[in-house]
Amino acid sequence: MKTVLITGGAGFIGSHLCDFLIDKRFMVICVDNLITGNKENISHLNSNKNFKFINHDISKHIAIDEPLDYVLHFASPASPVDYQKIPIQTLKAGSLGTHNTLGLALAKKAKYVLASTSEVYGDPLVNPQPESYWGNVNPVGLRGCYDESKRFAEALAMAYHRIHNVDTRIVRIFNTYGPKMRKDDGRVVPNFITQALNNKPITVYGDGKQTRSFCYISDMVDGIYRLTLSKINEPINLGNPEEHTINEFAEIIKELAKSKSKIIFEKLPVDDPRVRRPDISNSRKEFGWEPKVGLKDGLKKTIKWFKESQ
Ligand code: UDP
Repeated sequence: MKTVLITGGAGFIGSHLCDFLIDKRFMVICVDNLITGNKENISHLNSNKNFKFINHDISKHIAIDEPLDYVLHFASPASPVDYQKIPIQTLKAGSLGTHNTLGLALAKKAKYVLASTSEVYGDPLVNPQPESYWGNVNPVGLRGCYDESKRFAEALAMAYHRIHNVDTRIVRIFNTYGPKMRKDDGRVVPNFITQALNNKPITVYGDGKQTRSFCYISDMVDGIYRLTLSKINEPINLGNPEEHTINEFAEIIKELAKSKSKIIFEKLPVDDPRVRRPDISNSRKEFGWEPKVGLKDGLKKTIKWFKESQ
């Protein structure tokens, strides 16, 4: 039985990874300080003998007795609202947290997976974004705490790979949605669904012409697993290449939730990227991955979950 340690394991993507890996017969050690994660996301695993939870801030040193086969570093606030509220913790999770987890992987001779982000491309001047694009990031803007900590994390992972031969993977995660997102995390999916279900105004920021591409969580987890088992040390984009304006997205959610909400326009946050869409040619070519769940199907499942857990 292989053992995997996952930081941020009580978060949205992390908790889905815990479930997926338990199903694949891994021993899972979940590390989270619950700053943005939620213990309820993993409470059903507590009685499982192959699952262990450690409440710990990964920006501090961690000692683990067990041998480890994989270290997955997924701990970080990821919603713009969250990381702008706690920018220092965000910078520490991406810098010190990445240093600590890479050190752990080195000591345990474990494979390492870094959760990076499409935010490394900033407000991109190239659309769609291939991994070879270096990005257009404002280092001192309000999103800089997240973007730069992840860019630093990528650089550190590559350095540990080149200098210490750690077998690293870097996954650039594009917008992902599904059950277990925090309702109040401030991101567009939880906001629009909660607003639509309560017939409250749907808040589109700016003119709503900015675009995003939304990937359903089961596709994302499948992609992360395939990347982990691959031999690719360079960064890989994972996301759904179907691009929509935020206006279109508001209309789709309103329709699927059978909502009477009005759509209203509010101020655009600073440095909000105007476009975002992953070029996934490399994941297709290298490990045959592409998303399978269409936007409407994924949103129906997500709306159902939000409704049932209101
Ligand atoms: N957005 C919006 N209304 C909301 C929340 C977000 O129009 O209530 C917009 C936001 O300005 C951005 C897009 O939706 O253009 C995606 O925002 P999100 O916070 O989900 O994540 P991002 O992709 O910006 O990291």
